[in-house]
Formats: sequence, structure tokens, C-alpha cells
Amino acid sequence: MRSRSPYDIANFTTESFAALLATGNHVVALVAVGSVEPHGPHLSLITDTVISEAVAARAAVLIAGLSGHSLSPVIAPSVNYGVTDCAAGFAGALSISAEALTMYLRAVAAALRGAGCRVVCFINNHLEPEHDRAVRAAAGPGVIVACPLTRKWARTLSAEFKSGQCHAGEYETSIILAAEPSLVQQSTQAALPVVPISLSEGLAAGKNTFAAMGMAHAYAGNPAAATAAEGHEMIERLAAMVVTEVVSEITGA
Ligand SMILES: [Zn+2]
Repeated sequence: MRSRSPYDIANFTTESFAALLATGNHVVALVAVGSVEPHGPHLSLITDTVISEAVAARAAVLIAGLSGHSLSPVIAPSVNYGVTDCAAGFAGALSISAEALTMYLRAVAAALRGAGCRVVCFINNHLEPEHDRAVRAAAGPGVIVACPLTRKWARTLSAEFKSGQCHAGEYETSIILAAEPSLVQQSTQAALPVVPISLSEGLAAGKNTFAAMGMAHAYAGNPAAATAAEGHEMIERLAAMVVTEVVSEITGA
């Protein structure tokens, strides 16, 4: 059982949520977005959602601690399903259409804005381009996306992330070791060989699936090198990304 952040909406009743709105603070809704996707022989199918939730939990603490902006973070329920066509052919890939995802995210954002949230921030860590586009298409006034798939944020992350050899490799495995170690099959992880395949290069070359790129076991990179310490550091950097995006939305910067 995952532990809940104190800012999780699960901890609110209708009365305490009304009381939060009555403070006059800007309520910032953080919504983790993930996928149900094969992540090698050692990581959970829900890895991307767990990453986004860990980042949301840390970002909420940072947002609550900011002075001068009167922000109150709330972690709203996650969006667990995404566009997962790259993993086609591997068991456990549950893909929904880009149109369905965008429409659903727009509806979720409208509900949160209608409920009094000043900013809705979708935190996305499933980096398939079609999925990324579908999430970004839900952005609008007061609705933003924090995702490390831009040069600005990617450069703050690890060398493996920047190489594109980063599906269920050192980067993602480290984050799960930090966030929820019971979701890493550690005896399997420790024995996995490096798979030097860059997803960004594969996609650029027109190879649209893990299978076409030669990822025989649905991972790339070096999962055996993962550590919880690296994972905590990556969560910190991803949380800083969220805070920066939220503050720039509030301040119009
Ligand atoms: Zn992933």
C-alpha cells in the first residue's frame, strides 16, 4: 500500500475542501499522469504513474513551503491510462486513443477549475511522443503540463535520460527504488545487461515500437546500475520542474 501525501485529496472532506477554498489561497491541483506499459522484466506496468505520483508528493511539499505566493497544493486523483502504442506486442500494454486521453484530461481540468482550483498541473512521465502531444493538447488557461520531454528540463536530468536509452533503465528504476522499492524485482534487476538502444534515435529513424527498435525485453539503458539515491535526486529535480511551471503560471512569467 502506497503511503498518501498529506496534500492528497483523499485526506479532504467536502467541509475541509470548502475551508481550504475559503482561505483565499490559490489552490494548485497536481494531477499525476502515467500509463499502463511494460517496463522490462523488473519494473511494474504502472511505473510511469508511480513516478508522477512521487514527483507530485514532493512538489506539493515544496509548493506549500513557498513564501509570497499564497499557494495551497492539492494532489488530485491520478490519470492512470495513456497512449502506449510503442509497447505493442508486449503483455500488459494498455493503450487508449490520443483523442480519448485529451478529452478526458480537458474534462478533469475543467472539473478542477470549476471546483475552485486556480491552477491544474498535469505531471506526465510517460514520454511516448503521441502521449505527450495528447497531454499537452489539454493545456489552456490555468491548465499546464510539467513533463521532462523538453530541452529545458531534460538537461537537468541524468546522462542516461539525456541519451534516450532510458526506458526502464537506470533512470526510471532508480526513481522506483526511491519511491516504492517493493515495485522493483531487485534480483532480476541486478542481473540485467545494458541495452544500448536510444528511444529518441529509434523514433527519429521511424521505428515506432520497442520491438522494431530491438528492445527484446521492453527496456533500454542500464537498470542494474540504478540506486535509490539517484532516484531521490531525480525526484527532486522533477519536483523543481513542477514548482517552476506552477509559479510561472501564477505570476504570468
Ligand atoms: Zn516509463
